Amino acid sequence: MLAPKGRSLLLFSRDLRVHDHPALHAAALDGEVLALFVLDERILGADSVGANRIVFLLDSLHELRYSLRALGAELIVRRGDPVAIAQGLMIQHGITRIRMSRDSTPYARMRSSRLEEVVRAIEGELLLSPGITILDPDLLRTGGGTHYQIFTPYYRTWQRARRRELLSPPGEIVALAGVDAGTIPTFDELCAGADPIGERVFPPLFKEPFSPGRAPGGESVALMLLQRFLAGGAEQYLLASNQLGEEGTSLLSAHLHFGTLSAALFEWELSALANAGAEAAIRQLCWREFYHALLSGNPRITRENFRERSTPWRRDDAELAAWRRGETGVDLVDAAMRQLLKEGFMHNRARLVVASYLTKDMGHHWSEGARHFARWLSDADVACNVGNWQWMAGTGNDTRPNRRLSPQRQAERFDADGRYRARYLSTTSAQEQLRLL
Ligand SMILES: Cc1cc2nc3c(=O)[nH]c(=O)nc-3n(C[C@H](O)[C@H](O)[C@H](O)COP(=O)(O)OP(=O)(O)OC[C@H]3O[C@@H](n4cnc5c(N)ncnc54)[C@H](O)[C@@H]3O)c2cc1C
Repeated sequence: MLAPKGRSLLLFSRDLRVHDHPALHAAALDGEVLALFVLDERILGADSVGANRIVFLLDSLHELRYSLRALGAELIVRRGDPVAIAQGLMIQHGITRIRMSRDSTPYARMRSSRLEEVVRAIEGELLLSPGITILDPDLLRTGGGTHYQIFTPYYRTWQRARRRELLSPPGEIVALAGVDAGTIPTFDELCAGADPIGERVFPPLFKEPFSPGRAPGGESVALMLLQRFLAGGAEQYLLASNQLGEEGTSLLSAHLHFGTLSAALFEWELSALANAGAEAAIRQLCWREFYHALLSGNPRITRENFRERSTPWRRDDAELAAWRRGETGVDLVDAAMRQLLKEGFMHNRARLVVASYLTKDMGHHWSEGARHFARWLSDADVACNVGNWQWMAGTGNDTRPNRRLSPQRQAERFDADGRYRARYLSTTSAQEQLRLL
């Protein structure tokens, strides 16, 4: 039994796991832990946050609660403003320390500075630990001291940088007693305004239904998918990751986004395989790191072009609606857009094709595409979404800004037997998608 030395409030965010969790580990060593997750009303209410992400989150919270209970702790769940709720619980329970995983999105930075104010007022401390990315997005800088803007030099430096040690789940956690755990609402209850502790009624949330074929969230699912990917030796990745009809990729992006899988653990396991497929997968993980670093250094890219472009964008609502529904008449584009609606996921090669089609063939602004992706992808992540959209639109960090992918040519190369298109263009799935929109 650990002797309680102190108390801390551990605020979970997008780090919903017990394995390799530096902030959780440190909190367990502090003494008594109040482990908190706040269903953030501002995030839930945002138009860009769709049902698929919310249900993935709810799945992951159930699992996290179960895992914490197995370690002697409890997941306290609340709804509202995380800063105000953390502050209230700290005052109520005499806690002066907050621990959290460091995150560098514009919203996360704003939340951290508000938490800083709260702890300053009580002469407490906010301690941020790594855990969301493999390396801190602000760590690697060019010779000029700025964040990298081109992937290849970033990748070279990233490969050489030192990694922190991986952590097992804590052996035991001492839970702070006497705190109402709160109920994790269902998606419908959440949309109807439910409060985990029944104190308030929140305004209803108007969300489209979630995708019928969405993949479930949760740490055990993430670890199972990781094992499945590694069991194939990751060798298949090199050959099959671009083949649209095959399951050649890890399908772990939403787990990396919600932190049900540690990116550092994923990289470590891949490195141990030491083969070309594993190396290629690590390179993809580095794209995630790169986009987090790019956003951290350039927060304006969520709204503005990273690089200027001279041609004006077009706007045609009917065309945009056809693109969203998968009714452009271009088979590969339509199949991909229907995969998104059906599964809350789209293959990376297909994402490239539909992004190229929207911005280069139709001439629409990349932000229209990014917004639709944000609403439907379970893995929607502001850094990766905006970064990739700008890259494909030619306003981002691509060294070939005029790159255009011909859907016909891409279909010949990456869906030669037509399996992918047939799977998502079938009449049943088309009807299903239309019902959803
Ligand atoms: C227009 C567009 C928008 C995108 N939006 C997102 C998004 O919102 N969230 C997101 O996680 N990915 C996004 N991606 C990147 C990529 O498509 C997905 O990460 C990938 O398809 C997820 O499948 P997987 O987990 O099987 O990937 P794998 O091929 O198994 O790759 C392993 C991991 O590497 C990371 N990764 C792979 N490719 C990329 C990439 N191009 N950029 C950044 N990280 C990458 C992901 O975390 C992924 O889980 C986008 C790509 C495009 C072209």
